[in-house]
Amino acid sequence: MSDGLAVARTREELRRILLDLRSRGAVGFVPTMGALHKGHASLVRAAAEECPVTVVSIFVNPTQFGPNEDFDAYPRTGEADLRTLERAGADVVFLPSPEEVYPEGPRAFIEIEGLSDRLCGASRPGHFRGVLTVVWKLLELVDPDTAYFGAKDAQQVVVVRRMVADLFGPWEIRSCPTVREPDGLAMSSRNAYLGPEERTAAPALFRGLTEGRRRLEGGERDPGVVVEAVAAVLDRTPRMETEYVQMVDLRDLRPVPRAEGDLLLAAAVRVGGTRLIDNLALRVGEGVEGILP
Ligand code: AMP
Repeated sequence: MSDGLAVARTREELRRILLDLRSRGAVGFVPTMGALHKGHASLVRAAAEECPVTVVSIFVNPTQFGPNEDFDAYPRTGEADLRTLERAGADVVFLPSPEEVYPEGPRAFIEIEGLSDRLCGASRPGHFRGVLTVVWKLLELVDPDTAYFGAKDAQQVVVVRRMVADLFGPWEIRSCPTVREPDGLAMSSRNAYLGPEERTAAPALFRGLTEGRRRLEGGERDPGVVVEAVAAVLDRTPRMETEYVQMVDLRDLRPVPRAEGDLLLAAAVRVGGTRLIDNLALRVGEGVEGILP
């Protein structure tokens, strides 16, 4: 129901705009860090299809970046982002400054013991603490009926769901499929960092995961064998360094002794200086079915 995109830069502006719009009905919310691509746009479209009011935030959240990570270099593409949001059907964009989100500096944090430190959390200490904290604050400010997250960041979906359940947040958390380039590479704002040869190497991440799935489809149920099959593809790709390949339970992110039930086959690699992640969420029974986290 877009008749133009309203821009809010402060909590107060957001509150005033939403006060008006809430009478239209349910509010959908898509939190992002900007540098928007078709993956983000698919979330906005999903929200706009289901909800009369769609709110998107663009905030490069300092507390989820480690000291040696790319906070300063993170791509910022302001004007193009606003056009993308208008086309995808957003009604409101919230563009807060760090001072607006952390008026007293970051002090109060949310953590989930035993989940925040798995998979990407192991190599990015404090990352999910920053993610959960900012997502909770944004959910409080926007107070949507439903918030939309991408399956590409499956661990994020799992920890956000857990947070909302454990802390009695009243919001529904919905996940949406990963949008990929024609060669399989998951769309990501960080793909902009890839040089031409790195870009050629990058699709091996999805190819590796797909090889793992193929093994499962062939009847393999030993997680070690499946993980090895994925790692073999990544390891023989020039310029690609494997950070981890793991097969974990989709709910608690713990390694599984046997490949069955709802699983996440997830990997993180470095291509040149760029860290890329991808995953497949799978229901493994007699057969193998792709599912959403
Ligand atoms: P980001 O701006 O990277 O923090 O991402 C904002 C939201 O977009 C998160 O919920 C991501 O999971 C989601 N997202 C990022 N890339 C994709 C993609 N390729 N397909 C679907 N969702 C995505």
